[in-house]
Amino acid sequence: MNTYSHFYINGQWQLPVTNGNRIEVTNPANGKCIAITASASADDVDRAVASAKQAFASWSTTSAAQRRHFINAIADEMQQRAAELTAAISDSMGCPYNLTRKMQVQDSIDAFRQFADMTDYVEQTEAFPGGQHHRHAIGVCVLINPWNYPLSQLVGKLGPALATGCTVVVKPSEQTPLQDLIIAEICDKVGLPAGVFNLLTGYGSQIGTHLCSHPDVDMVSFTGSTAAGVSVAQAAAPSVKRVCQELGGKSALIITDDADLEQAVAFGVHDVMTNSGQTCSALTRMLVPISHYQQVLDIARDIANSYTVGDPRSEHTTMGPLSSTQQQQRVIDYIQRGIDEGARLIVGGVELPSELQHGAYVMPTIFADVSNDMTIAQEEIFGPVLCIIGYQSTQQAIEIANDSAYGLASAVYAANTADALNIGKQLRAGQCYLQGHYFNTYGAFGGFKQSGNGREWGVEGLREYIELQAIFCQTSDMDRPS
Ligand code: NAD
Repeated sequence: MNTYSHFYINGQWQLPVTNGNRIEVTNPANGKCIAITASASADDVDRAVASAKQAFASWSTTSAAQRRHFINAIADEMQQRAAELTAAISDSMGCPYNLTRKMQVQDSIDAFRQFADMTDYVEQTEAFPGGQHHRHAIGVCVLINPWNYPLSQLVGKLGPALATGCTVVVKPSEQTPLQDLIIAEICDKVGLPAGVFNLLTGYGSQIGTHLCSHPDVDMVSFTGSTAAGVSVAQAAAPSVKRVCQELGGKSALIITDDADLEQAVAFGVHDVMTNSGQTCSALTRMLVPISHYQQVLDIARDIANSYTVGDPRSEHTTMGPLSSTQQQQRVIDYIQRGIDEGARLIVGGVELPSELQHGAYVMPTIFADVSNDMTIAQEEIFGPVLCIIGYQSTQQAIEIANDSAYGLASAVYAANTADALNIGKQLRAGQCYLQGHYFNTYGAFGGFKQSGNGREWGVEGLREYIELQAIFCQTSDMDRPS
């Protein structure tokens, strides 16, 4: 078991200023403590922000080539330490090693490298009649992340921040700080200038408000629950800083009556069960034509039963535990609520096989006969729980899909792409996956409605870290030597 008693601030490993408290990192597969980290206080926040502010002056003037060099150097080191990153993530949040290795680690390394090719974006200008738009790094950015895809969520913020010349104070989830500590070691090793990357471990409930309201912070990029996202925005509002929020979801997959049912249902069930259902964009409401309802239930049940639930370290495991016993209890409470509200359980439920009772497991669970006003169809469960809802007409399916406080993702399976697109364009969600195509990090990721503000990934994700300056002038004079 490792003890991490320091934060990474100003290019050094520094002890907490005041708070002697420690945070235990627990493996949800067996309840064992695997690491202990320090718990930051407001004084540590002040030091980290001061360090980032000081470093911004020079880092923001580095060339695109310098920033590209550092992003690639960090990615190279991540690649070297991919096995360690895999263990750090899987052991702290339960995603099976075989999935973590690819989906959480390799895909994150590859996605991080994309930002190396974008470092010159901030140096480009755009002409308009009577002037030019110039781009500037926004400044000191606070990056706050949850525990479900902790490395991906970090690099989706750190990549554009470094690419544009911003400096950062990073605060991972208290449950999953280990991959961020590895990234701090990597930044140190590759010689990233002191103060560009600062890391605090600690509770959002204790330091979140101070971080987000700090007058020297220019932007907060937050991923997490909608409730915490609201607190972040409230704390940031008095100092009018930019807030980018990636929040919760209750996304719908519409399957039409002429779609390939086997393919469509398999896509939908696997989408929900991946990472034990702890994916913000999970398609947790499957909308199916009443005419094909029983057929869909039969296919979905068989797929759910094909999961091997168990030890995340086993290469045979396809579903690990939930991220914590608190999350397990939350999901079990929702399943009970679904039963109490009259939904019909067709697989899974609140019981666990005896061999899984030592960990935070929940079996793949599917409810039929769900109506969209039930709690399980409206609230984000964040567990392996799928709600199947019948519809009479395509128009009704679209209305049900849009009848949600959230609007993060959506999906359509129809007879062909053109039909699916026609429906997809009517869905009020930031992403839409057609015919089994899925998210990649070139497209913009973010939500409509209460799923958030702003976008991550791709060029749109980069723009969040940029201030635009309109310069009014005789543009033909601008290229002359001064
Ligand atoms: P959470 O909101 O409890 O915590 C997320 C992070 O915010 C943690 O680092 C936490 O310490 C910090 N935090 C908590 N309260 C804070 C406050 N008042 N001020 C500042 N920071 C605070 O969420 P969680 O339980 O860790 O993660 C699960 C949630 O994250 C789900 O709702 C899920 O949908 C959402 N999520 C969204 C996306 C997305 O991109 N839209 C991605 C992943 C997860």
